[in-house]
Amino acid sequence: MVEVNAKTLVDYFITMLKTKSMDKLTKKIHENTVEALQKQVPKRPIQQSTWKACPSCKQGIGVTDKTPNPRAIEYCFHCGQRLGWNLCPECGGDMLHLDNGNYPEYYEEWLECEKCGFVCDV
Ligand SMILES: [Zn+2]
Ligand SMILES: [Zn+2]
Repeated sequence: MVEVNAKTLVDYFITMLKTKSMDKLTKKIHENTVEALQKQVPKRPIQQSTWKACPSCKQGIGVTDKTPNPRAIEYCFHCGQRLGWNLCPECGGDMLHLDNGNYPEYYEEWLECEKCGFVCDV
């Protein structure tokens, strides 16, 4: 079975919008679908001074530097954007554990991007 995730669907609908000629209503439906689906594609929260903001609506997601398990927050409670805590800020790839290449257990660990090699402490 082919796995279709939100990212694949977003790409598909964007391609359709770019390449197909469609009437106004169909176009609107496609655009709204893209908008809704993009909330399902995990995005990395934005680091502010001592707290983190939603990458979509830029509002606080209730996480500060002292929040013990911020990754428990999977969605922005303002706009519903799905949050991806281990995504590379440079390329959006998966950030893996620097030492052993595993997915990190803790939020504070140093991580390295699987794709571009970018290193950071999330
Ligand atoms: Zn939001
Ligand atoms: Zn990267």
